[in-house]
Parts: sequence; C-alpha cells; structure tokens
Amino acid sequence: MTTGTFVRWRNYAARDLITVVEALDLPQPLTIVACPDGPGQLLIAGDPALAGIVVRADHAEVGPGIMWWDDGYRMMGMRDPEIIVLPNGLDDAGLAAVQAAVRRSITRRRRGFRRCSTCLSLNPPERMSTRGVCRACADRRE
Ligand SMILES: [Zn+2]
Repeated sequence: MTTGTFVRWRNYAARDLITVVEALDLPQPLTIVACPDGPGQLLIAGDPALAGIVVRADHAEVGPGIMWWDDGYRMMGMRDPEIIVLPNGLDDAGLAAVQAAVRRSITRRRRGFRRCSTCLSLNPPERMSTRGVCRACADRRE
C-alpha cells in the first residue's frame, strides 16, 4: 500500500501510526500508549523508551522517551517533543522529517544515560539513584 493512500485518511490517528510504523526505521520494541496530555496515541520506540511519536492532522510531535513507575506499573511517555510541521501529511518529505526527528530524539535520550558505578550497566536517568548507582544496586544496598 502506498503512503498516498494513507494521506487521504490522515485524520485517523491509528492509520497515521500504521504509516509511521511501516515507513520508518524504528528501534524495537514498539509500544502504543494513550497520550498523557490529551487525545490520541503515543508510539514509543525502543528499549528503554528511546523515542516517542505522536501524529496529528498537520504536525507530528517527536521527542525522547521517558519511563516512570506508578504503583508498580511501568509507564512510558516522552519529554520536550519537537513539533514537525506536516503541510502535506505523511508524504515522503513528511516521513523523512519525522525519521530525522526520531534519530535526534534517540541521540538526546542516549546522551542522558549514565553508567552505574557498582554494576557498570548503562541506564537512563530514571533508573539511576542520586548516588551514581542504578536503582537495582541501590535497592540491594538497603
Ligand atoms: Zn547497578
């Protein structure tokens, strides 16, 4: 199926996400969660939550992923998203712009990773304690 077929349906968020999943080179796994700040769906790519993508009618929001824990459940979202204007929806130029933003977001996300001084694992900030050790090592010490 061509991208053009999808563009006509661009107000349907689920189809936009299918277009994005089929057309872009995204790190696995892919997870879809409800947008935390309004209607729509947020696509999270990679582990641990490397990039988030929301597609709206005339723009996409792409940013580094973030995780947090709520009552033992792992939640995922994104922070500081870039707005990618899509004047013609998800045509080739639009998809290329979203792909580039995904790459930038993954770079921003990985830049914040820190190595645990105890087990030497590389962790996103939300998995680190304030003492330079990962939460798993911190929990073992307590
Ligand atoms: Zn550790």
